[in-house]
Amino acid sequence: MCRLSTLSANMARLSSLVAAAFVSVVSLMALQAAAEMITTDVIIIGAGASGITAAKTLADQGVTDFVMLEATDRVGGRVRNADFAGGKVELGANWVEGVNGPGPVNPVWTLAQEVNLRSFYSFFDNGTSNIYDERGFVPIEEAASTVEAADKAFEFVGELSKNLTEGNIEDISQQTGQRFFGFYPKTAIEMALDWWYYDFTTAEPPRASSLKNTVPLPTEEIFGPDHYFVADPRGYAVVFQPLLKSYLKMDGETVVDSRLKLGKVVNKIEYTDTGVVVSTADGSVYKAKAAIVTASIGVLQSNLINFSPGLPFWKMSVIYQFDMAVYTKIFLSFPSKFWPTHPGSEFMLYADESRGYYTIWQSLDKQFPDKSLIFVTVTDEQSKRVNQQSFNDTLGEVMVVLRKMFGENIPMADEIYYYDWQSDPYAKGSYSNWPIGVSTFEFKQLQAGTCRTCLFLWRTHKRTLQWLSPWRVA
Ligand SMILES: Cc1cc2nc3c(=O)[nH]c(=O)nc-3n(C[C@H](O)[C@H](O)[C@H](O)COP(=O)(O)OP(=O)(O)OC[C@H]3O[C@@H](n4cnc5c(N)ncnc54)[C@H](O)[C@@H]3O)c2cc1C
Repeated sequence: MCRLSTLSANMARLSSLVAAAFVSVVSLMALQAAAEMITTDVIIIGAGASGITAAKTLADQGVTDFVMLEATDRVGGRVRNADFAGGKVELGANWVEGVNGPGPVNPVWTLAQEVNLRSFYSFFDNGTSNIYDERGFVPIEEAASTVEAADKAFEFVGELSKNLTEGNIEDISQQTGQRFFGFYPKTAIEMALDWWYYDFTTAEPPRASSLKNTVPLPTEEIFGPDHYFVADPRGYAVVFQPLLKSYLKMDGETVVDSRLKLGKVVNKIEYTDTGVVVSTADGSVYKAKAAIVTASIGVLQSNLINFSPGLPFWKMSVIYQFDMAVYTKIFLSFPSKFWPTHPGSEFMLYADESRGYYTIWQSLDKQFPDKSLIFVTVTDEQSKRVNQQSFNDTLGEVMVVLRKMFGENIPMADEIYYYDWQSDPYAKGSYSNWPIGVSTFEFKQLQAGTCRTCLFLWRTHKRTLQWLSPWRVA
């Protein structure tokens, strides 16, 4: 019998990454408004990729007496889309990351094939041929030597990381690795390339990120080098349908299974040697032998859930040490296209004197051929800044940048939209980044359960979740 397993939950998080998407296409049962008192075997907190996968794992092991408590009115968590300019854009996870490798197939990719997910190969290398600065397009020959130096530094840092791992040598930051090569980004183009190679993935700068645990990208190492950008009118979250259908009662695409409980904000978890009692904001109480918490690291860092007794120092210490990074996609719709539309122009780099200032632009011409859509990604401090200002203020800033890139005569955007993941109480950020200073041992503490039963659950869980990208923990 166990107490709670906060940690199993953390494990699930690992998986999260993998996971993927979720939309409300799989429309769900109505919110359970009434307070209730239920006794079950296992409580799963959160119905994002990790919670959905955890329930599937339990069901596969013959554990069918469980409930899933989800705070929002939908499943999918950080796999979520929104209406934009007459289409659907993904606010959270957008790529299936890690495809076409010689080894195991990314399980998200398997699900994507199963639901015939509409996705597009991303040729990221194009970005270095499409560099702009405040003067407009930078001729390829002008940027070539800078790009070459940055590429060499990137390769060196990747090799260094492998050597550190193989030699069982202490971790260093990405930035320290760059310095061993002698790469000190100073010019606008160097900083843009630096941001593109690191921050675009980890959502934090090289000085903050663990080298050994983020480079090379574990998802690519395990599953393959390719990434596919999802643009499906059903939403990326549709990939979860086969999982849900395998263990929940459905009426067509609608979940009609009382084990999935939406609108249940867990605010207290009491655990003893004999079981767990979980309370929700609407006054409901759930009792079980174990609980699996899949809320993000950001949520666990907040005071949304009160653990009683409080989680031990070793657990809270690593929860607090991991960074919940902020990554924001700013979508723009225009009356017409003014950016290059030829093959190989999908990604464009804008090199500003201020590092990370509207650096990566991506056109959505392939995905939405009848529209004129483009988006720009910001992370970390720039993300937090735009999240605190109005859409209009951000629109003003991006138009200034676009006019520098493409000239004064471009049209004004019709629409702008982005989602503030940091303020979302059930996410508290976009995804976690492995910071320098957190050891593999501490990471395992994050995953570990607090009792024997929990450890058992954790292990069974792990098998299914092993495809999750290890660099994003939550
Ligand atoms: C902007 C952005 C871009 C991303 N890009 C990619 C990408 O391209 N490719 C990729 O693979 N991944 C990407 N990710 C990461 C990916 O979305 C996540 O790793 C994954 O969805 C996490 O799944 P999860 O189930 O672990 O967590 P979540 O999706 O956060 O699920 C946790 C669930 O728990 C619920 N919850 C939280 N607190 C409570 C509570 N107190 N009570 C009840 N329920 C609660 C939440 O509502 C949520 O539904 C991105 C994420 C973001 C935000």
